Amino acid sequence: MADKLAVFFHPCIFDHDTGQGFFEAEASPYLSITEKHPENDDRARNMHAVLQQGPISELLDWYQGEAAGHADLERFHERAYIDELESIPPSESRSYSSTTVFGPGSYRICCEAAGQAIAAANHVFDDKDPIAYALVRPPGHHAQPQMADGYCFFNNIGVAIETLRERGLKKAAVIDWDVHHGNGTQQGFYDDADILTISLHMNHGAWGETHPQTGDVDEVGGGDGIGKNLNLPMPYGSGDIAYLRVFDEIIAPAVRLHRPEILFIANGQDANQFDPNGRQLLSMNGFYELGKRARALADECCNGRLVLVQEGGYAISYAAYCLHASLEGVLQRDASLADPLAYMQEDCSGLDDFVDRWQQCYAEAIDRG
Ligand SMILES: [Zn+2]
Repeated sequence: MADKLAVFFHPCIFDHDTGQGFFEAEASPYLSITEKHPENDDRARNMHAVLQQGPISELLDWYQGEAAGHADLERFHERAYIDELESIPPSESRSYSSTTVFGPGSYRICCEAAGQAIAAANHVFDDKDPIAYALVRPPGHHAQPQMADGYCFFNNIGVAIETLRERGLKKAAVIDWDVHHGNGTQQGFYDDADILTISLHMNHGAWGETHPQTGDVDEVGGGDGIGKNLNLPMPYGSGDIAYLRVFDEIIAPAVRLHRPEILFIANGQDANQFDPNGRQLLSMNGFYELGKRARALADECCNGRLVLVQEGGYAISYAAYCLHASLEGVLQRDASLADPLAYMQEDCSGLDDFVDRWQQCYAEAIDRG
């Protein structure tokens, strides 16, 4: 059992400036106060603070990895796309959609973020500690090989996996419990039989040109990778009971069958019941139990090798508490931080139907090839 958890972090992540307005939109002339873009430094500052000062603080060892270089990024991303981001003058910002903002100096920050994910993966792959977590922003799981999407520019987990493959890794699995579809990770490994990608998300479908993937059950992978991409588009209003049931009945068996050497978790907390960008109802206990299950699965399937990388989570205070809960579950401690907020009850009346339909749709999509 690991008593310690290695945390990879660079303070420059607080400098990624996504601007202010009417949430993600332009400021309104009819309001007196603008608010920060939801993917802002405050959320990361609170995550950092709760890990520095919360009950698990003495179990964490802090590290700072090196920034990812061009060669690291090119293992997952197309060179022309990296060149384009690199060419943006550090004093300028650029919008890749109405919500995906590349702020002044963000190229370096994105490289540092990807570098922390790489360093966390190397740390675990080299057996320095069995478990590592990278506290990064911007998040990465919507970033596809050739384009930005959904606040994401470089796919931190994708780049880390490709770095390990260069070093001899054969098989990995990614469980993405961010409330949004991990379309970038799906896209990067879609035809790949060795990388199992699983995304648990609210059923939001495709969005715009930067997110053509639907996140539906029938996106099962292509070519050699058929059956190696699992999408779980959960009904709106799903909470702890629904998430833990599909983890136990669908996700864990798929990971066991795949037999990865290392397990990655795209650790977003925006499925929490107070998230402005999510419509799910997870509580701290749900995240605690997900963390506990991820750890048990890593222990069972891959010698305990577990790498968690921060993704979304936009409720400034509650996301930090949910992060702490997930890591407390990973550390297999009793939950020590009381939940100050959770009170919404989930409606599980459609859950049996969802699980039955999922099994049927997945099997039919594989049959169709
Ligand atoms: Zn998200």
